Amino acid sequence: MLVTSYQLIDGRAIAERVYAGLRREIAQLAESGITPGLVVVLVGDDPASRAYVRSKDKMCRELGLHSLKLELPADTSQRKLLDQVEQLNRDPAIHGILVQSPPPPQIDEAAIIRALDPRKDVDGFHPLNIAKLALGDASGFVPCTPLGCWHLLKESGIEVSGAHVVVLGRSLIVGKPLALLLMQKGIDATVTVVHSRSKNLPEITRSADIVVAAIGRAGFVRQEHVREGAVVIDVGINRVDDSSSPRGYRLIGDVAFEEVAPKTKAITPVPGGVGPMTIAMLMSNTIKAAQRRGAGR
Ligand code: NAP
Repeated sequence: MLVTSYQLIDGRAIAERVYAGLRREIAQLAESGITPGLVVVLVGDDPASRAYVRSKDKMCRELGLHSLKLELPADTSQRKLLDQVEQLNRDPAIHGILVQSPPPPQIDEAAIIRALDPRKDVDGFHPLNIAKLALGDASGFVPCTPLGCWHLLKESGIEVSGAHVVVLGRSLIVGKPLALLLMQKGIDATVTVVHSRSKNLPEITRSADIVVAAIGRAGFVRQEHVREGAVVIDVGINRVDDSSSPRGYRLIGDVAFEEVAPKTKAITPVPGGVGPMTIAMLMSNTIKAAQRRGAGR
């Protein structure tokens, strides 16, 4: 039987609910004289990165956080960037540091992440935070996009405990940490991760109760990948040319939405699904960093 009425998971609405809670926490911090501070470091002028940095900065300002944008030229050296990171590590007004990815080729991104104070690593990519996620130690930071996916599922009332979740993609920023998060005790999903070398991919994804697509291939997930009544979370953000759009392009996900949605129980749109939640979780991690510092942790 084909399911035709599906739940559209509204990431913007769910993010608004997160912000309502965060505003209360920000007000409490203000009573102790603390304004959470986030700095976003952008090296070079990649247009997509600039757009992400703008939206993060805008949200910080809307929430009344201390927001700093550090824009460095594309030819910035590794040493210069490390010096900047060390300076920000020491800056008491800054609780969260995010180095926008991808940096230019002369930058060793992993070394920059290792240089971050893990207590300010609100992106959750420092080895200590990844290790804490693997250990189930809640004192670390969980990367924002996986955390956003989990919140979307939870807030939409989707049963994750015991469910089979198939994650497409094994990147360090989405697929791998999402798998670690969803298999944790207390969340209790049964997780399978597939990637570009996986065989029989449609067969595996069809066995999923929940499919999460994070591969960066526009419209890759088709009807054949999804069983009827499954839940689909589309992390992908892909620019495709569109002369009818004022920008000359539009954003589409990794899922062929029109053909897949009628088969699902619930699905996220692109845009308006995971994207707004990623920013909401960044704000949430920054506030958590400020709360922990306030509590001397
Ligand atoms: P990535 O680092 O390029 O990783 C892509 C992953 O997908 C890799 O593991 C790759 O496999 C796998 N893959 C690629 N083609 C495949 C195929 N045909 N079949 C199966 N697996 C395949 O990408 P990412 O950084 O994780 O990002 C993925 C997508 O999410 C992108 O569209 C990105 O823009 C989007 N994104 C969105 C947000 C948000 O806030 N919504 C945040 C982050 C990323 P191998 O490992 O074998 O190469």
